[in-house]
Amino acid sequence: MLDLATNVQFVKGIGPKIAQILLEKGISTVEDLLYYLPFRYEDRLNPRGIGELRAGEMASIIAEVRTFGLFRTRRMPIFEMTVGQGRDTLKCVWFNATYLQDKFRAGMLLALYGKVEAGDRGGHRFEIVQPQFEVLHDPTAHGNGTGDEPKWQSLEVGRIVPIYEAAGNGRLTARWFRRVIHAMLEGLDQDPPDAIPAAVRGHMGLIDRRRAFWQAHWPEVGESLANLQAARTPAHIRLIFEELFFLELGLELKRRKMRAQTGIPFQISGRVRDAVKRILPFHPTAAQKRVLKEIADDMAEPVPMRRLLQGDVGSGKTIVALEAAVIAMENGYQAALMAPTEILATQHFLSARRILEPAGYRIVLLTGSQESGRKKQARHHIAQGNAQLVIGTHALIQETVEFDKLGLVIVDEQHRFGVLQRFRLMKKTNEAEPDVLVMTATPIPRTLALTLYGDLDTSVLDELPPGRTPITTRRVGDERSEEVWEFVRKQVAAGRQAYIVYPVIEEGATPPHRANIGRAGGPGEGELKAAIKMYEQLRKREFSSLRVGLLHGRMSAEEKDATMASFQSGAINVLVSTTVIEVGVDVANANLMVVEHAERFGLSQLHQLRGRIGRGSAKSYCVLMTGGKVSVEAEQRLEAMVRTQNGFEIAELDLQQRGPGEFFGTKQAGMPNFRVANLLRDRELLEAARREAKYVLAGPSPDLTKEEIARAVQHLRGHWNRRYGLVEVG
Ligand code: ADP
Ligand code: MG
Repeated sequence: MLDLATNVQFVKGIGPKIAQILLEKGISTVEDLLYYLPFRYEDRLNPRGIGELRAGEMASIIAEVRTFGLFRTRRMPIFEMTVGQGRDTLKCVWFNATYLQDKFRAGMLLALYGKVEAGDRGGHRFEIVQPQFEVLHDPTAHGNGTGDEPKWQSLEVGRIVPIYEAAGNGRLTARWFRRVIHAMLEGLDQDPPDAIPAAVRGHMGLIDRRRAFWQAHWPEVGESLANLQAARTPAHIRLIFEELFFLELGLELKRRKMRAQTGIPFQISGRVRDAVKRILPFHPTAAQKRVLKEIADDMAEPVPMRRLLQGDVGSGKTIVALEAAVIAMENGYQAALMAPTEILATQHFLSARRILEPAGYRIVLLTGSQESGRKKQARHHIAQGNAQLVIGTHALIQETVEFDKLGLVIVDEQHRFGVLQRFRLMKKTNEAEPDVLVMTATPIPRTLALTLYGDLDTSVLDELPPGRTPITTRRVGDERSEEVWEFVRKQVAAGRQAYIVYPVIEEGATPPHRANIGRAGGPGEGELKAAIKMYEQLRKREFSSLRVGLLHGRMSAEEKDATMASFQSGAINVLVSTTVIEVGVDVANANLMVVEHAERFGLSQLHQLRGRIGRGSAKSYCVLMTGGKVSVEAEQRLEAMVRTQNGFEIAELDLQQRGPGEFFGTKQAGMPNFRVANLLRDRELLEAARREAKYVLAGPSPDLTKEEIARAVQHLRGHWNRRYGLVEVG
């Protein structure tokens, strides 16, 4: 007998070679193989009659091979076959399919699946191009001697049949998986008690696990094909929910563990409140007030704060961070503000000085490009406790700084992720855990926030500071660039400043974030307009009467700082740049953003870029110029940018286009690898899982025994690392 933890090598039909192939697919145990669910199902109970096909539909057909042959056209070999049901016939076509020429014999029974198209070859009404197929019966072949043929055939016709993705370069076919998984299910031991407590199963109406595996692989007669394809059968729901439930249970446990640590109960006295108010250069928005209260309440608690502050670009996160820093400093603790880039750290430092130094707080900046004597001095002040607020890049602060009395860490992640796991590297002499506030400008769709940041509390700045005018966004082809340059000149004449952004620094260079970029169409990279060349051209020609600056990632930190300072002061009218400006740059007088080759940028990037403008009171304009062909996805991105400025809406579409892994730009960001769940599809189940996980960890009740809770946690412990591979936070 097999149990779930049995190595697949002990499954009938699997030897060491096959086990190796399976291992490459991440399958090593019986349980793993059970989770290798069909990616689609074919209705071979009610296959379609050739006579009732309609052009454009996907259809399953069972028919007999009549004639076939390989035809060589000038461009490629084409394999054509006619299949029939009685008098009805259908043509099947495979391109480049020399490998098929010895595969078939007249009289074979085939299951075919593919898109039906109106026929234009040889008098057939319909044809199927590149159908997937399976030989169901070969009248000229003899059985394999096991006497099992009739049984296997009953798995492949006259029912809904699971279709598996083949593995090992086609060595393990869908049919192979069908047979092995079926036999494995039959040989499976009794299940251990369900790890999901009965009350939760009751709330969710879940079927038991074994039945779920059976039915997900071998749907019962009458199961809806649509529900199967959408993973919405009771079987799928059980398996998906289970996966999400244990994820959320783990996150909730982590959250509780954090809560159990000793934090710093910051005093929020009248004096502290006054100190916070005193630094404010403007009236905070209602959202800023609400969020600060959420943060202050957390800080007052004796458990460490772990809070995520989401706020679209320009929503005013910085001042909230500085307010939190004041609370820490007024309590005699140090605060650290970490930024992803030097440009940003420097910007934060400048605004922190402007806002905090008049009130007497001592701030130091720590960046890689500082001269080593200054760095040493800064570190000394931090270790002695002279410096109250430390601002620098993530790496620098985490790896090289020792604090005297660290109370608050603010992480400005903007839209780079993956720094969370490194907190524990921070050196400090005090015992208590510092509070942590993570700020992000990428509106994280709730689904992802629940998994990626599921153990953080969340605050949202959902209101822009007053006096902002909406940004007008236009899309134009670059054949109209003359008009655009004329518009830039006009805005500059009116005292404004402009950004002009390019996807690459130099011609022939590879644009960054290639994954974001529409692959179809567009000019070759060699033809992309590049920042340096266009800077030269614009400076000499179109903008010869203006002061033009250049900013890109290959400049030294001093050059970048100097350029930014000139732009900030207004000495530069037009800043030609790459996406280095996408993060955090804040120049209120710049009201115009021109993006060339906008079709080449990802949605979040475009949104970040556009966030650089609309910061002052002057009307702002974003011009998205396209050059060359624009793919369908790029078209959608540009359309979304013109339609909306809502960061959450844009993030959702971005997530849909790119999927979670690419959305965050990195897999190491702590995204769990799901086996059956799909965050885009299973949002509601995720919310339910979170609710149920909290319910279970809230403790025993008449419906929920201590043993059930212990069993669920035990199950999780055995699966957490292997299954979710989530990094520890904090
Ligand atoms: P982000 O959330 O992108 O970090 P910032 O903190 O840089 O946004 O704020 C964007 C701009 O808005 C800054 O110039 C800041 O001074 C200004 N700002 C923030 N809050 C307010 C407010 N309540 N009233 C007026 N201006 C504000
Ligand atoms: Mg910011």
